[in-house]
Amino acid sequence: MKIFLETFGCQMNEYDSELIRSILRSHDHTFVEQLDQAEVALLNTCAIRENAHERIYHRLDDLKGRKRRQKNLVVGVLGCMAQNLRQELAEHAPIVDIVAGPDSYKRLPQLIDSVRGVGEKGFDFSLSEYETYSDIAPQRQPGVNAWIAIMRGCDNFCTFCVVPYTRGRERSREPQNIVAEVHRIAAEGFKQVTLLGQNVNSYRYEQSDFADLMASVAEVPGIRRVRFTSPHPKDFPRKLLHTMATNPKLCKHIHLPLQSGSDSVLDRMNRTYTKRELLHLVDEIRAIMPEVSLTTDIICGFCGETDQDFEETLDVVRRVEFDSAFMFKYSQRRQTIAERKFHDDVSEEVKTQRLMRLIEVQRDISKKRNLTEVGNTYEVLIEEPSKKDPNEWLGRTDHYKGVVFSDDSVKPGDFVQVRINAAGTNTLRGTAERQGWRRLPVMASPAACCEH
Ligand code: SAM
Ligand code: SF4
Repeated sequence: MKIFLETFGCQMNEYDSELIRSILRSHDHTFVEQLDQAEVALLNTCAIRENAHERIYHRLDDLKGRKRRQKNLVVGVLGCMAQNLRQELAEHAPIVDIVAGPDSYKRLPQLIDSVRGVGEKGFDFSLSEYETYSDIAPQRQPGVNAWIAIMRGCDNFCTFCVVPYTRGRERSREPQNIVAEVHRIAAEGFKQVTLLGQNVNSYRYEQSDFADLMASVAEVPGIRRVRFTSPHPKDFPRKLLHTMATNPKLCKHIHLPLQSGSDSVLDRMNRTYTKRELLHLVDEIRAIMPEVSLTTDIICGFCGETDQDFEETLDVVRRVEFDSAFMFKYSQRRQTIAERKFHDDVSEEVKTQRLMRLIEVQRDISKKRNLTEVGNTYEVLIEEPSKKDPNEWLGRTDHYKGVVFSDDSVKPGDFVQVRINAAGTNTLRGTAERQGWRRLPVMASPAACCEH
């Protein structure tokens, strides 16, 4: 069959789509780029926030019209939303033929056959304690970075979060199996690998912990950079920080999801750390890796969040000075502990006001931190042409700063020394330096500023 697969949400979903491609290709299905050419339309979905649901329902509305014209089009909803809203999808979206959760991808060929063969709808939302898809080689699109899930599920039960219900219990893959996959990734030409997990630094397989795994992955020849996402602040033992600090292939960037700076909100969120402990961890990280960059996730307007609680969050943001942040309004998710236990009592208006204020504060900090980079020279891994000007490249430093520059003698996957000469809120701008070129002194001035 000709399959159109559309992915919504996070990198884990992108990775799952690579697994889905591999599973379906091995059953002689092919993939098409355009929905018009498809016999089967699959949406691999996300359930993290309300707007993810809205986008997917909107897409299903489009597919409803299409299905009127193309009666035998098979429509499938896969992934987290499928798991989270299975009943609603099965009952209220009559155009949906297949609903399959994140542990049911291996059943997809069978579900498609049963819809096309006997016209029977196929639903599978069983969650597994063991499924890690370690026997499936993901079908990656060629590129610079390869994602690799080293664990699945999450046992943390942060009260706002739907992941433990959509992706089930936490389980880690065998390290030998992960390293073997990284060898294949290197042989395919990828220069960077990003280890993925919902709580990636709680990885453990028998005696092997996350630091051991990172060190083994970094030994794979051909892999020049190793990253990871998303860690939880509770799982940063010194061993991990020292492993990161001493191995040049382990990138000096930590995405450290804060969520809130208020102890009472953190407690209601079940984050298991306090503001003080988080600030202490940041100090420790920076003492061991002074060059590290820190990014974060923050939720505004969680149940019971007062103006004072929000000020505590701003206080942490100002004290830590994250390099950048993903900032969200709290959106109540079905099945979560917060839905059962707390009132979603912060008005939409207040959530929006707090989010706007937080974004403003963080933008100033990001810009200020980026301006300190002017005058430095970094090794930049070229990712792709810049979106604003395809004659320029977008690459990244080891510490995850996006850098825009031009050089017509290089290509994605190359490493280039780039001297930073301007900085905006989101990106740096620089000039490629060739070996043998004489470096001219450049005045770093706060006016040297770009908005990419
Ligand atoms: N595992 C990561 C952690 O421990 O923080 C988070 C992964 S979650 C998929 C990505 C981000 O989405 C979270 O860090 C949080 O900021 C945000 N998020 C999750 N549930 C949310 C909700 N109900 N409303 C708003 N934002 C939410
Ligand atoms: Fe969700 Fe918390 Fe698990 Fe992150 S650690 S996926 S926020 S439950």
